[in-house]
Amino acid sequence: MFKIDAHNHPDYHGYNFERHIADMDEKGIAKTWLLTWECPAGEYDPNTIWAFATAMGDRDYPAPLRLCWSYKERAPERFILGYCPDPRRPDAVQKMKAAVRTYGVQVCGELKLRMMYDNPDALDLYRYCGEEGIPVTMHFDNAGAQTTGAEFPRRHWWYGGDIDTLERVLRLCPQTNFLGHAPGFWCHISADRLGESQAYPKGPVVPGGRIEELLDKYPNLYCDCSAGSCRIALTRDPAYTKKLILAHPDRFVYARDYFDNELSPFIDSLGLPEEILEAFYHGSAERLVATVKQ
Ligand SMILES: [Zn+2]
Repeated sequence: MFKIDAHNHPDYHGYNFERHIADMDEKGIAKTWLLTWECPAGEYDPNTIWAFATAMGDRDYPAPLRLCWSYKERAPERFILGYCPDPRRPDAVQKMKAAVRTYGVQVCGELKLRMMYDNPDALDLYRYCGEEGIPVTMHFDNAGAQTTGAEFPRRHWWYGGDIDTLERVLRLCPQTNFLGHAPGFWCHISADRLGESQAYPKGPVVPGGRIEELLDKYPNLYCDCSAGSCRIALTRDPAYTKKLILAHPDRFVYARDYFDNELSPFIDSLGLPEEILEAFYHGSAERLVATVKQ
C-alpha cells in the first residue's frame, strides 16, 4: 500500500533533495506534503536550528517557501506544496493568494509561531484557505511543557496557545479543515493534565480526552500523525487508539516530520480493516487537498 507523508520539510535533518526522494522510494511514499516554517528569528530555539537548512548561510527562515518550491519544481509528481505566511503580517492573505496562484500551493502549513492561533488576522487567513479548499496544519506546544530553565532568550518555547485555542478556531472557521500536530495537541489523547508540564506524557490513556471530544464535535478537525508526539500518544494505549481510529476512520493522516517509518509497524499491528488503513496511509491526505482550486 502506498503512502503519503503529510508533513515534512526540505533540507531537513541532513536530507537534501536527492536523499529525500531516495528515502521516500525506500519507505513506499508516493508523495510528500512539503511544508514551510517561515518563523522569525527569536521565535524558535536557536539550539534546534541545526536541523534546518542553515548551512548555506540562509538565515531568513528555517524552511522558506523558496526551498519547498525548488523541490516541487524538480519533482512535481512527488510533492504537494505547503506554505504558511506569518498571519500577523498585513500582507499574509495576499501572500497566500499569490503563492496559491503562482506556485500551486495546496496546503497551509506549517503554522508554528509564537502567537495565539485564534487571533483575528489568523482567522482571516484560515477563512481564505477554507474558500480555496486548502487545509491548515498547526503546531501546538504548551509553555509549561517546553520550559528552558533559562531567562534568555526565552523562558519557554510555546506555540499556538492551548487546546481551547484550537477549539475556538474549529468553531469560528467551520469551512476550513485543520490538522492538529505536535506535543500540545497530542497530549490531549488522554483526559489528564500531564501535557501541561510534559511534552511527551506516557502511561495509560484516560478515555474522554479533548482529541476524542473535538473529533466528535468538529468535522473539520484532522490529526497529523507525524513525529514522536503522535507516536508516543498513540502507543500509550493500543486498545484505545484502535477504538478512536475506528470511530473516526477518515480523520487520521499518516505523516512523518522526519525520515523514519516508526509509526507504521504499530498502526499495522492494530488489526484495522484494509479500507481504514488505505484512508490512514493516503486516502484522507488525498481527499484533504482534492478540492484545492488551481
Ligand atoms: Zn511541527
